[in-house]
Amino acid sequence: MSDTPLIQLKGVTKVYGQDATALQALKGVDLSIEAGDFVAIMGPSGSGKSTAMNTLGCLDTPTTGEYLFNGVHVEALSRDQRALLRRRFLGFVFQGFNLLARTSAQENVELPLLYRGESAKTRHAAAAKALASVGLAGWEHHTPAELSGGQQQRVAIARAIVTEPAVLLADEPTGNLDTQRSREIMELLWGLNVEHGITVLMVTHEADMAAYAKRIVHFVDGVVDNDTRNPHPAGLHEAALAPVAPAKPETA
Ligand code: ADP
Repeated sequence: MSDTPLIQLKGVTKVYGQDATALQALKGVDLSIEAGDFVAIMGPSGSGKSTAMNTLGCLDTPTTGEYLFNGVHVEALSRDQRALLRRRFLGFVFQGFNLLARTSAQENVELPLLYRGESAKTRHAAAAKALASVGLAGWEHHTPAELSGGQQQRVAIARAIVTEPAVLLADEPTGNLDTQRSREIMELLWGLNVEHGITVLMVTHEADMAAYAKRIVHFVDGVVDNDTRNPHPAGLHEAALAPVAPAKPETA
C-alpha cells in the first residue's frame, strides 16, 4: 500500500475572468482525500463547492496550485489526458439525473462503455450487473419517463459505476428527491463506498444527507473553513438496523 493520498489539492486557486471583472472562486484550497473515504462537501452558495468539484472531476484546471490524482499532476495534463483520466477513474452523478430521455435504462448505463469502445456483449453484461447492483434488475428496458425520480437516480448511479471508477463525484444527488428516496440513494452510496471501496465525494446542502458521510468538508468564501470526521455516519446505523436489500420494483 502506498502512502500517497488518492487526491490532493495544494494551494488551489481559481480565477474567472480578467482584470476588473476577475472573480476569485477558490482562494487557496488544501485538501487531501484517502482512497475509501466518503466526503460531504458543504457550504453556502457561491463558496466554491462547484468550482472545487469541477477541478476534482478534471473538468477544469486550477489557475494556480496543484492537483494530484494518485500522485499524478493533473494540472499539467493536456485536455485529452484529463479526459482519459476522467473516463478511467471517475464517475459522475448529478442532481438532475441527466439521462437520455427516449433511451432505455440499459442503453443509458451502457453509454460510458460505448465511448470506451467496448463490445456489445461486454456492454450488455456490465450494464445488467450495474443495474442489478442498484436494485433495478427487471427495469432494463424502461425509459426515464417510465421510472420514478428515485429510480432515475439509480439508473444514473448505475451509469456512473459501470466503468468501475475509483471515485464517484455526486453533485447534490438527492436535491430533486423526497426524504424517503433521498435516504435510499444515500444508503446506496454508502453501500458502494463500504462494500465496493468506491471513494465518494458529494456536494450537499442537506445536513441529513451529509450525515451519511465519513467526513464533512465545509467551504466558505473559496477556502476550506472546516474539515471534520463524522464518528457515526448514518449509513452505519441503518446498515446495522436493516441490511440494505435490493429495492422492490416500484410502480412507475
Ligand atoms: P458554489 O458551488 O459553492 O455555489 P461556485 O463554485 O459555483 O460556488 O462559485 C464560486 C464563485 O465563482 C461564485 O461567485 C460564482 O459566481 C463564481 N463562478 C463560478 N463559475 C463561474 C464561471 N464559469 N464564470 C465566472 N464566475 C464563476
